[in-house]
Amino acid sequence: MRGRLAPSPTGALHLGNARTFMVAWLRARSCGGQVVLRMEDLDHPKNKPGAATAALDDLRWLGFDWDEGPDIGGPHAPYTQTERKARYAAALAALLEKGLAYPCTCTRRDVEAGQSAPHAEDGLYYPGTCRDRFADYEAARRTLPQGRLPAWRFRVPSDEVVQFEDGFAGTVAQDVSEASGDFVLARDPDGAGYMLAVVADDAAMGITEVVRGDDLLPATPRQLLIYRALGLAPPAFLHVPLVVSEDGRRLAKRHGDTRIRALREAGIAAEQVIGLLAWWSGWAAWGERLTLRDLLPRFDLATLPRTPAVLTETVKAELGIRIYNGLT
Ligand code: GLU
Ligand code: ZN
Repeated sequence: MRGRLAPSPTGALHLGNARTFMVAWLRARSCGGQVVLRMEDLDHPKNKPGAATAALDDLRWLGFDWDEGPDIGGPHAPYTQTERKARYAAALAALLEKGLAYPCTCTRRDVEAGQSAPHAEDGLYYPGTCRDRFADYEAARRTLPQGRLPAWRFRVPSDEVVQFEDGFAGTVAQDVSEASGDFVLARDPDGAGYMLAVVADDAAMGITEVVRGDDLLPATPRQLLIYRALGLAPPAFLHVPLVVSEDGRRLAKRHGDTRIRALREAGIAAEQVIGLLAWWSGWAAWGERLTLRDLLPRFDLATLPRTPAVLTETVKAELGIRIYNGLT
């Protein structure tokens, strides 16, 4: 069994992603499995300088460990996506070879303007405007003004329901051609983009189980299509609920400073943070202090609530979480 932690250095590690990582780590460690840490830093414009190092540091402080990762190497090195771009280019070439990828010159506004039918739950529906429109990438690029580049899209089979058994969410079925249409594989000319990279990497690194937030549940059928197109065996998937604020939204700065770093600097102990994450998951009493290792014998997916964990005023008071003014 090989699991993974895949942080993106687009922001600081906070209570929400820490809880998901906790479940991923416990899943692997409780059955003697390995943990791989992969830094998903392809999304350059959103990356924050120093966030990758800070994420590793925050994870270590919380008590996480891993067997392979950017800081310790391993048999599948490198573990940082920007250093793995040649692999994504190879995966893209394989899809092109099979006629399953094509360049698209549509802008976000073009795609938005064409929305009529069903929206993807997590993005825009694309009607396939550029399917069979350009002979190749270069031909597509030539139609664009200087400085704009085409994106790569996946040719989604129509009228096929992709179905899989999620280890937490249960049976998931989606007709990708209706839910999202031909989705973006990558915006990079060489194929370095989340959707293609995550599949190429999980397969290359021998990941057998992916535990992540259920915000990615609707994207999983798309990823399964890529696995199949590349002739790769998919891992098992386990999507767990996120941590949300009292208004039901994803954690944001206006809900208070939930960054692990801020809690640590305010003098909160790692055991208090783990205690809270475990209480949210049904594995600890309120106010209990625990290490990750203490949780190994208590770990049980059956008690993990099916609904999101909520950052209530009581929780905020317990950890002294203040409103984040963004000045730190
Ligand atoms: N790096 C992604 C994120 O931080 C996770 C991707 C995945 O787990 O597939 O949102
Ligand atoms: Zn297009």
